[in-house]
Amino acid sequence: MSPEALQRIDDALTRPAAQQPVWPDPQAVAGVRDSLLSAPPITLPSEVDRLRRRLAAVARGRAFLVQGGDCAETFASNTPAHLGANLRTLLRMSAVLGHAARLPVVKVGRIAGQFAKPRSKATDTHGLPVYRGDIVNSATPDPRLRVPDPDRMLRAYANSGAAMRFIRRLHRCGIAEIFTSHECLLLDYERTMLRPAGPGGRLYNLSSHFLWIGERTRQLDGAHIAFAALMANPIGIKLGPTATPEEVVEYLERLDPDHEPGRVTLITRLGHDQVEKVLPGIVEKVEASGHQVVWQCDAMHGNTHESTTGYKTRHFDRILAEVRSFFAVHRELGTYPGGIHLELTGEPVTECQGGALHVSDHDLRACYSTACDPRLNHRQAMELAVRIARILRS
Ligand code: PEP
Ligand code: MN
Repeated sequence: MSPEALQRIDDALTRPAAQQPVWPDPQAVAGVRDSLLSAPPITLPSEVDRLRRRLAAVARGRAFLVQGGDCAETFASNTPAHLGANLRTLLRMSAVLGHAARLPVVKVGRIAGQFAKPRSKATDTHGLPVYRGDIVNSATPDPRLRVPDPDRMLRAYANSGAAMRFIRRLHRCGIAEIFTSHECLLLDYERTMLRPAGPGGRLYNLSSHFLWIGERTRQLDGAHIAFAALMANPIGIKLGPTATPEEVVEYLERLDPDHEPGRVTLITRLGHDQVEKVLPGIVEKVEASGHQVVWQCDAMHGNTHESTTGYKTRHFDRILAEVRSFFAVHRELGTYPGGIHLELTGEPVTECQGGALHVSDHDLRACYSTACDPRLNHRQAMELAVRIARILRS
């Protein structure tokens, strides 16, 4: 890597970074980083470039984006059965939505690397250091296993590679073109996957195809935004209800200086009752700025609550309500609602309430297996796709 590139990476990483683990042994982290720096990357620059072209089409209203998968992948669930089930659900939803929209669908999994989690609190209900994803520590409520362990980055890398090979095999069988994504959160890991490529030697983050910056790490002058600005990959930014139009345009100035259509995906996750209040101001200001973004609706993260039975859950009706308001606002303003972002699994879990099977507070315990946030199960995801298809046709 050139000295200039190294300097730019250093500049980004010396900024304050939220949500990073405190590793007990910094030397061990440096050792892991060195191993990863010389390891083959998970994805290829040519694949990332292909996704850039696909997202440019979405930004121009010529394709629809469907992104989904687990909130948190785990090493234990990195199996052909689980990966296959999630991909099948994603593909079936995409078929329904593509047919309704009469447009090609760009399919992106939260897969092959979604191992790091931002958390609202530093401790869990047992008073233990919180679980930060399998790439950092263990979900098992044992104080020793909650200590951040840098060797987990090597396991995350190996698991990501294995999942990527599984997805590539499907692709070669002609099943579908599926891209991967995860939150660009754990900087000690992400920095090791940067590789210069192409004529200008741009830096590709080859840990995945698409990466997004989360709601908790989108500080304008923080490390995550500066790090994302270095990457050639298409970038998402999660926008919660406190995001201001001015702030969002500032992200675009930094992340999309060349005005590349589809370079940035603005992933609004406002809450079903906040969309009509917050989204119009953001859309108007962004449109006036001239940046051509992908507008995507994450209908999950603004609609989380605790059930009377003590489970973190989301109600199908609120998820649908957020999607409806998202489409309504974009129609009203004449902008293109480019896609959806969901937490889902192909497995028959009971984590979200409602849907045709009327999952109730008391049903949640039957099969609640998420490592973090509640996911739609296959039936709920398909039902949502059918409801969104109706909106697309209307
Ligand atoms: C997530 O996508 O799992 C997540 C943590 O989202 P957000 O940053 O929007 O809260
Ligand atoms: Mn989540």
